[in-house]
Parts: sequence; C-alpha cells; structure tokens
Amino acid sequence: MVKKSYTIKGFDCANCAAKSEAHLNKDPRIEKANIDFARDRLDIVYVDEVMSIEDIKNKIKEVEEDELTIVNIGEEVSDYKIFDKHFWILLSRIAFVVVVIILSFTAFRDDSYFWVNFALYLLATVVIAYDIFYRVIKTIIHKENPLDEYLLIVIATVGAFIIASIEKETHVFLEAIMVATLFQIGQVIEGIATNKSKEAIMKAVDLRVEYANLIKNEGVEKVKPEDLKVDDEVLVTTGEYIPIDGVVMKGRAFVDTSSLTGEFVPVAVGVEQEVYSGCLIKEGTLTVKASKEYSNSTVSKIMDLIGESQENKSKADKFVSKFARWYTPSIFIISILVGIIGGAITNDWIAWILLALKMLVVACPCAIVISIPLAYFSGIGLAGKNGIVIKGSNYLDELVGLKKLFTDKTGTLTHGSFSVVKKVAIGISEEQLMEYLCAVESHSIHPIGRAICLNYLDGHEHIQIDEFIEKAGLGVQGEYQSHKLLAGNKRLLEDSQIVVPDVKEDGTIVYLAVDGKYSGYVVVSDEIKEDAYEMVKLLNKNNIDVTLLTGDKEENAKIFCQKLGISSYQSELLPEDKILYINKEIGGKGKVAFLGDGINDAASIKRADVGFAMGGVGSDIAVDSADIVLMTDKPSKVYDAYKIAKITRNVAIFNIAFALFIKLGVEVAAFVTNLVGVPEVIPMWLAVLADTGLTVLLVVNSLLILHRKINR
Ligand code: ADP
Ligand code: MG
Repeated sequence: MVKKSYTIKGFDCANCAAKSEAHLNKDPRIEKANIDFARDRLDIVYVDEVMSIEDIKNKIKEVEEDELTIVNIGEEVSDYKIFDKHFWILLSRIAFVVVVIILSFTAFRDDSYFWVNFALYLLATVVIAYDIFYRVIKTIIHKENPLDEYLLIVIATVGAFIIASIEKETHVFLEAIMVATLFQIGQVIEGIATNKSKEAIMKAVDLRVEYANLIKNEGVEKVKPEDLKVDDEVLVTTGEYIPIDGVVMKGRAFVDTSSLTGEFVPVAVGVEQEVYSGCLIKEGTLTVKASKEYSNSTVSKIMDLIGESQENKSKADKFVSKFARWYTPSIFIISILVGIIGGAITNDWIAWILLALKMLVVACPCAIVISIPLAYFSGIGLAGKNGIVIKGSNYLDELVGLKKLFTDKTGTLTHGSFSVVKKVAIGISEEQLMEYLCAVESHSIHPIGRAICLNYLDGHEHIQIDEFIEKAGLGVQGEYQSHKLLAGNKRLLEDSQIVVPDVKEDGTIVYLAVDGKYSGYVVVSDEIKEDAYEMVKLLNKNNIDVTLLTGDKEENAKIFCQKLGISSYQSELLPEDKILYINKEIGGKGKVAFLGDGINDAASIKRADVGFAMGGVGSDIAVDSADIVLMTDKPSKVYDAYKIAKITRNVAIFNIAFALFIKLGVEVAAFVTNLVGVPEVIPMWLAVLADTGLTVLLVVNSLLILHRKINR
C-alpha cells in the first residue's frame, strides 16, 4: 500500500468533491481516497501501484465537470483566476440569453410569435444549461447519487419549460431560463467567494520560505530551501526569512518569531544558538548551518499539520454530510407531494407544479455544505495566526466542551530553568557531590538535570558513564568510575532501600546516593511563569477547573497551587499515574484536556480528549504527540484556543440556523403566496438568488473568523 497526497483545486462545491471522492473510492486500484474540500487536498491510499495524475483526472472527469488542477503536494499552484477562459465563455452565454430575452420582449412580444419564442428560449436554455444537463447525465450513468443541486436545477428548468409550452405562456419560459442563468452566475460568484476565502486562510498560515542564499566557494547562490542539505550554510540578512532550522555560525541578529508564535518580540541571537525556519530577521546578518533538511524543519512540519487532511471531521462537518443526505431527498419528496396534492385538490395543476419546482430550487443545501467546513478551516487559520497549531477540526469541537484542564508543572507552568540554590554534601566533598551529580544528570533530558550541570560543565559535553537510565518522574541512575550513582527525588532512593532524611527546603531537592549510600543533596528552584497566573485566572473565570498533576513532592505542589489559585492538585506522581487521573475524568460530561511540555508526559497528552503541548518551536516530541501545539511557552494560549473554538462553533451554528431559517422562510412564503393566489410575489429566479446570495453571505461569514480578535 502506498499513500500519496495531492493538492486539488477547482471544485465548485463541497458536494462535487464528495461525489468525486465516492467515485474514486470505487476504483479497484484505490484502497481509500479522501478529498478535503476546505484544504484543497486529496489523499489516496493505493492498493499497489500509484496512478498518474492524468489517470486521476480522467477518473474524476467521469462524474465531474469542474476544471481541476491536481499536483503533488508541496508543488506550487497558481492562485485562483477569476477571469479565465470559462468566465468569458459563460459571459458570452449569458449575453446570448439576454439578447433572447430582449428579443422576446420587443420584436416577438405579440402572442402570435409563440413558436418563435419557443424556439429561441429552447436554444437559449441549451446554450446556458448544457453543462448542467451533461453533469446530471454523467452522474446517473456512473451510478453516483444524482440528488444534488444540479438535478434540482435541471428539473426546475425542464419543468418550467414544459409548463410554458403546454400553457403557451411566454413569461414562464422566462422563469425557466432565469433559473438556469442565475444558477450559473451564482456558481461563479460562489466559486470566487469560496476559493478566495480558502486562499486567504492558507496565506494567513503560510510560513513557507521562498528561497535560501546558499554559501558556496564561488559566492552566494539563490536556491530553493527544499534543495538544502544538512550542514549547508546559508546567509540570511535583514528582512529575510530563515529558510531552514540550524545553528548560527557567524553574526548577530534580532529575530522576529511572530510568524511562528504569534508574539511580536524580537529575540537577539548569536553564534552557536539554534534558529528556526520561518523566523524573520529584523536586523542583522547571520550565517546559519542547516541542522535538518527542509522537510523536517519547523516550517515544513507546521505546514504539514495545518494542511493535513481531516480524517477526524468535526461534529458540525459530520452533521452537514448527514444533513445533506436526508435533507435533499426529503425536500424532493415534499415538493412532489405538495405539487400532486395541491394540484389534485385545486385542479390548478400548473400553479402547484410550478410551486413544487420553486420549492426544489430553494432546497439546494450548498450554503451549508460549503460554509461549515470553511468555518472550521478559518478557525484553524485564526489559531495559526496566534501561534497555536490545531491538528484537526474535531479538536475545536472538543475544546468547546472543555470542563477540566490537567496541567503539568515543571517546564509548563514554571520556566523549567532551574538554578541550584543550595548544596549539602555528606561524607564526600562538595566538589565530589557536584561531579557525581553531573556525571549522571548530564545525560538527562529533564530541565532539572540540565540546570544542575549548567555551571559545572560550562555547557554541553557529557561525562562518560555506563548503564545510564532515566527514570521518568523519579530521577536518573548510572555507573561512573565504577560507582553506582542514583540522583533524584526521595522516592527514587527509597525504592532502592536507601534511607533518606527529611529535608525541609523551599524548592525541589535532588538527592544523591553513591554505591547505595546517601551522600547529600542539592536544592534547585524554579520560577513560576507570569503567564501561568493569567491562564488560571482566565480558565477559572470560564468555569474550567484546573488541576495540577505533578511528580514533585506534596509540600511543593501545595504551595505552588496556593500561589497560582489552582483549586486541586495531585503530587508525587509518575508519568503513568497521571494517565490514571485523566482516565477517571474522561467520558464524563465535560471534555478533559492535558497541558504539558512533551517531556515525559507524551502519554498523558495523547490520552486526554485534547492534548496540548507547549514549546512547539524546536521540540519534535511536543509537535508529534499533541493534538494542539502551542508554539510559545505561554500556558494562557490554552484559553485562546478555547476562545477560538467557541468563535468557530458559534459561526458554524449561526450559519446552519440562518440558512435553514431563510430556506424554510422562502419555502413557506412560496407556499402561502401560491395558496392565496399571488405566486408571482416569489418568482422562481428569486428562489435561486436567495440560495446563491445566502451561500456567498455565509462563506464570507466563515472567512471573517480569520480576522477575529481574541478578547481576554
Ligand atoms: P512535573 O510533573 O512537575 O513536570 P516530572 O514528572 O518531570 O515533574 O518530575 C517529577 C520529579 O522527579 C521532579 O520533581 C524531581 O524530583 C524528579 N526528577 C525527575 N527527573 C529528574 C532528574 N533528571 N534529576 C533529578 N530529579 C528528577
Ligand atoms: Mg514535566
């Protein structure tokens, strides 16, 4: 099995995309195809051999008329063109219709010209609607569900045309042709609104860097970032984006990370510091040595996540697909019933069949089908602009119901930059205490470990040891110069039957045991992030309970929570214990989230309904394990994500409710006006206009999410 992803552009409507997806899935060469209309993305899992893009296009062409652009994912696609060939052709077709209408109202106005009008309108109908007819026929031939807006329009147009011919009523011809013409115009306007909206969202989150200045012996050459290799050196100067993750070899600069983090704080960087792709150089020039390939760089990863197709569709998305499945057929049946029953009772068949056709036209579900997925995509775009990467629309849904946030402490609510504030050596010298500690801690990935070694080792190198083991939530062990070393909390030492005295210190105590003998401790202290106060305050205000799950000892947890205003805590937990607490809460009324830094709490992040990981820039573990990645180290971004989820949900619900309200309103109005004998108040073309206008309105409403401010 081979999976391949493509960018696919040009669908007029979410429905067309759904139909093409269904058709692709029937192909024996394809295991599973998935089209994501909002993200312009097609994913195919092939049974064995990969199909050529031409083959895919031809396959879709069997059921779809839209002019599609398909390219491999990552390749450039030109922007949506409004004034393309099709636009001009359609315009000429519309012009032809207009000429026919004018002729029928001037030269052929008299009733005696009925058959001339018949011929003219028939020709005009073919000219304006041939592609709609063709689509419907294709769909039926290939046995895909034909009940879509195109069929509705065909029935309405043909129906009106037949009635006009029987009744010899020229103005009913006008109705028929107006339906098809306005529908076509509507499709173009919808296409512009939808495609331009999608582009706007993609652009808002687009971090791709266009070029890199590769340093070569003979000078500097502009290349694509994709072509860079590890250890290549690039030159980046004021106003340019860093093309690739790497290390600064030369120069100093102020770097603006706002495109990644949503925060406008320039950071000073210099030699030996790491820098990330997608950041803008505010001032200065850097020589950066690539430490990763472009495809593994920060920008590339984030773009992949945002563009990643949504296998986990949002509830609203699912509702819409289900809704479209029963809504269109039901309206279909209701309309036919109205036509037949009304006709039979009043014996005024023509009037009632016309009403039935009108009701069919209003029924197009496009406004909802297009605008809902777009609303979610827009929400994800807004999050991206704020340095929050959300991996799926479904997480926005889950967040709306958020009732409980479990949070890690070290590195999440604290800076995780410990400093050693006290050293107590027992039976060995202080110098030895530090040497032993650093021997094992220099291999630790935990911030405590790094802090202890920071001054002692002057930076980076490791001390050679054997049999190193990192015990998550406890500490570290290893063998150094044939001494068995243990460094960590009380529990770690006690697990090895080492008696440890109770030490009262303000901070985290790291005990050391050498060859099974307690040999002293150091006290490290960490600072609470200013922003953590903000997070607790905001979440409490919104009735979201915050509970601390920490591996730290009880006294520390208690004081910590008092300071922050966190209502409850669980202390002295191993990473696997944290999962137990999350499990207990999951499946209840509210949704449960976990916030961590990705260091030894990846399992908890995965287990929660919504897993937040902090510090997305530069941390692969965080990016991979989380549902939502916070690019900065600010815990209060959890609240922003929650707020964005609410905004998105509200817009989605508004769109659905408003569309149903308008549609039902027009249906009822059409019915009532027909009943009281003034059907001309709601002509058929008005029904088409109501549908198209509504779609454009709701698409724009969805797009506006992208420009919303998050109020705190
Ligand atoms: P938190 O849940 O607050 O993030 P952790 O689970 O990361 O805490 O760690 C829990 C406790 O385990 C720490 O408070 C510390 O006592 C101990 N510990 C973990 N890793 C180390 C280490 N490398 N060195 C010393 N102590 C450690
Ligand atoms: Mg931690």
